[in-house]
Amino acid sequence: MNPSPIPRARYDAVVVGARVAGAATALLLARAGLRVLVVERSRRGSDTLSTHALMRAGVMQLHRWGVLPRLLAAGTPPIRRTTFHYGSEPVVVDIKDRDGVDALIAPRRTLLDVVVADAAAESGAQVLYGTTLTEILRGPTGRVHGVLVTDGAGRRHRVEAGIVIGADGARSTVARAVDARVLAEGKYPGSYIYAYWQGLELDGTHWYYAPGVSAGAIPTNEGLSCVFVGMPPGRYRAQPGAAFDALFQQLASECHQGLARALGGARRVGKCYPFAGRAGFLRQPWGEGWALVGDAGCFKDPITAHGITDALRDAELLARAVLRGTTGALAEYQATRDSFAMEFLELSDRIASFDWDLDSVGGLHHRLSRLMARECECVRDFGSLPRTSAGSTAERIGGYRSHGSPVLIPV
Ligand SMILES: Cc1cc2nc3c(=O)[nH]c(=O)nc-3n(C[C@H](O)[C@H](O)[C@H](O)COP(=O)(O)OP(=O)(O)OC[C@H]3O[C@@H](n4cnc5c(N)ncnc54)[C@H](O)[C@@H]3O)c2cc1C
Repeated sequence: MNPSPIPRARYDAVVVGARVAGAATALLLARAGLRVLVVERSRRGSDTLSTHALMRAGVMQLHRWGVLPRLLAAGTPPIRRTTFHYGSEPVVVDIKDRDGVDALIAPRRTLLDVVVADAAAESGAQVLYGTTLTEILRGPTGRVHGVLVTDGAGRRHRVEAGIVIGADGARSTVARAVDARVLAEGKYPGSYIYAYWQGLELDGTHWYYAPGVSAGAIPTNEGLSCVFVGMPPGRYRAQPGAAFDALFQQLASECHQGLARALGGARRVGKCYPFAGRAGFLRQPWGEGWALVGDAGCFKDPITAHGITDALRDAELLARAVLRGTTGALAEYQATRDSFAMEFLELSDRIASFDWDLDSVGGLHHRLSRLMARECECVRDFGSLPRTSAGSTAERIGGYRSHGSPVLIPV
């Protein structure tokens, strides 16, 4: 019988999900001295359905956490220019050199998630792949105090936790188990198809808009460009026999002739990845003994390409709240998250409705740009994380307790 892969029966925090939201939260909590277990049901380095554009605030955080050099060293191309095409009208935005960030990046998720999770593990978090959360443990008052997980060998483990953090994506098991309330919902899920291309020679990211259709071309690792097309779901569903290749080509031509010509001179690598769409939502992100972060707490239509950046920002907001150690701090986490999430949700929903003309979608992008500038200010103000000292959980978080009841009950 192999020894248990989970060396402790008790952790300060158990994080469910080891992609951007979970890995980043674990990284920050572990660096601050908490005992952290991360369980991830997929294998290390597995892919997920997502394109790759990161916005400035996210890159600023990766830079500050010291993981940006690893992504660049792995061949992630720096992106120094982004171009919006409204019909045939291009608007070019050069990326400014500010806050230690002189370029954006769009790493493959097979790289980004692993780099952040590895940094969490190096900081002391126990990261277990192939391990699935099956149940949340609650005490007589309803407070969450642990989890049941099943490891890769099919063994079940009971783990006690000061806090259980659901970073387990839009279909979050944690959110379902704690019955997290839905606070807001989007109405317009867009549908998307993306694929990888060799030989596009992009001078940065390109975003294309034409009536009833959008597209994007994003330089990523291994000399490839990720190209997507977006459409209202009715058009996606009307495609006979899931002929996504033909629909992809058709929409790229409708959206921008220059893009269609460039694709004609390039080579597609691998298959088309279809995403039928999912309406956005905002969930209550914390309660007694639990919290949600990333898509588990808020999912937006991917047309604004902001989910990864949101996940990184909210990971740091949540980690800071957990380290302050009070319900008041978690309420502040929610207030700050919602001050961004509500507007990102609304804007993503409006753009995903495809009910716009080229002027009005430009206006929505201006609002997005102002919101992202505020997001950069928020991330800039984070400064360094409080560090805990050795001792029991209660002692370690006690120094950060300001008001409200304690978050981390010693287990
Ligand atoms: C088509 C598409 C394109 C997108 N493009 C972009 C883009 O260009 N830029 C951008 O910023 N965002 C984009 N997004 C959004 C982005 O992918 C998400 O916002 C991001 O992945 C959220 O990260 P997360 O860590 O919260 O959740 P996820 O990436 O969903 O990770 C959750 C993890 O939890 C694990 N898990 C789930 N349940 C359990 C369980 N019971 N036990 C253990 N582990 C579990 C899963 O295996 C998974 O690895 C796109 C999304 C889609 C669908």
